[in-house]
Amino acid sequence: MSNADKFKQMSKGLDLAQAIFEADRCLLCHDAPCSEGCPADTRPADFIRKLRLKNITGAIRTIKENNILGGACGVLCPTARLCEEKCSAVFKSENRPEGADRPIQIGKIQRFLIEHAWQTGFKVFDEKPALRPEKVAVVGSGPAGLSCAAELAKDGFSVTVFEARPEPGGVLRYGVVSYRFDMNFFEHELNDIKELGVEFQCNSPIEGKEGAEKLLKDGFSAVFLAPGLWAAASLKPDAAGIDGLFSSVDYLAALRDGRFEEVEAKIKGKTVAVIGGGSVAMDCIMSAAKLEPKDVYLVYRRSYLQMPAESDELIEAQEEGVHFLLLNQPVDYVTDKSQRLKGLKLARTRLGAPDASGRRKPELIEGSQWILDSDVVIEAIGNQAPEDSTDWYPHVAVTDKKLIKADPNTGKTSVDGIFAGGDIVRGPALVVTAVADGKVAARAIREYLGN
Ligand SMILES: Cc1cc2nc3c(=O)[nH]c(=O)nc-3n(C[C@H](O)[C@H](O)[C@H](O)COP(=O)(O)OP(=O)(O)OC[C@H]3O[C@@H](n4cnc5c(N)ncnc54)[C@H](O)[C@@H]3O)c2cc1C
Ligand code: SF4
Repeated sequence: MSNADKFKQMSKGLDLAQAIFEADRCLLCHDAPCSEGCPADTRPADFIRKLRLKNITGAIRTIKENNILGGACGVLCPTARLCEEKCSAVFKSENRPEGADRPIQIGKIQRFLIEHAWQTGFKVFDEKPALRPEKVAVVGSGPAGLSCAAELAKDGFSVTVFEARPEPGGVLRYGVVSYRFDMNFFEHELNDIKELGVEFQCNSPIEGKEGAEKLLKDGFSAVFLAPGLWAAASLKPDAAGIDGLFSSVDYLAALRDGRFEEVEAKIKGKTVAVIGGGSVAMDCIMSAAKLEPKDVYLVYRRSYLQMPAESDELIEAQEEGVHFLLLNQPVDYVTDKSQRLKGLKLARTRLGAPDASGRRKPELIEGSQWILDSDVVIEAIGNQAPEDSTDWYPHVAVTDKKLIKADPNTGKTSVDGIFAGGDIVRGPALVVTAVADGKVAARAIREYLGN
């Protein structure tokens, strides 16, 4: 199989029989703990109950009416710590009866139902709402922007999404690796949103002094800011010119652009080190592992238990043969005269007292520095707001990390008429929390504009 093929398509989902088999295991809990576990209120207990009663269109309707990105969430949500974590089908006892030992596969059922709607041509929103005169601008077409835009379009507002990049989708298109989430799938979901009447203006960054407030002057009655976090944090900002050093943002975007040969030429037969312990680091590691490297190392300054990545991602990486270099803090890069990367200088750490995040802080062990020979290093140590991000919303209050301060119950910012949500408010989070923020802000915008 060529490398391009390895990246082309995500794995197949459940079929109808498998989805019904899984729904039949559901205990139809009256208190529906799974539904409480969904940040976007996708209501798994309701759609699983409908599927169990063979009301398939009703089940699809429940998902799409509550979460316009129900397909994306079905594929990408870390369900093991959301809805499925709460599922009562896991009987928490050592003597678990047969079939009560694992949660209902809620994410997989959700994905099946949405794909089934696309395959059968079932449309949830076939009636057009009464049009309202107000126009709303959404800045950024990631999950937060898409969710807010869809909710407002369903209410009849005319919504324009401004997107800096050539195509809509944010991280869904330019971040997550394609074998986990492919474009064919996303285009269907995007189409559901376009059919609601949302207008997209791509290659249209909002910029310049007071760009966001200018939208209000240009005839938009409200603005929702959802630009996400697109600046990669770096170990050494002055190291950018090193040949062999990549940020996770650039590396993953190259794969999403289909530049497999270019990336493969850098990785095949080489020693690759990925710095970071979160899900983005896992995408970098697992994709590099598919490109026939000599070795792949994961370098993380805390221990295994503190790693923010999902447990199934960590297990997959171990099964793939990734070497985990834990309790090691990268301190510098080693290069030759022509700035070609030769190694990663590391210092060993030990865990001290908990820091502000509640996790035990890594402390450097004096005299423990050593060099890991590496040809390629990918930094996946967090995404942040670009340095100049606040230039285009200078009056919107932000934190010291340049995250926008917004009311969690409404998405309202310090500027009247400007709302915000998604990663630019929360810091790096999830698709489903971005969807939730879009819904919250849409509700508040509706109230702001007089219902
Ligand atoms: C590699 C990677 C893998 C991930 N995997 C998962 C996963 O498996 N599951 C999960 O739940 N979450 C995952 N996440 C996190 C999740 O994707 C994000 O939390 C989510 O996309 C945030 O949505 P958002 O709408 O706030 O921003 P984004 O998705 O970042 O979208 C913001 C959009 O705004 C645009 N924009 C920025 N500035 C401007 C401007 N000035 N004018 C116009 N447009 C602008 C950007 O180009 C972008 O398209 C992952 C993140 C990354 C980086
Ligand atoms: S918690 Fe689990 S068993 Fe109960 S309704 Fe939800 S999916 Fe079904």
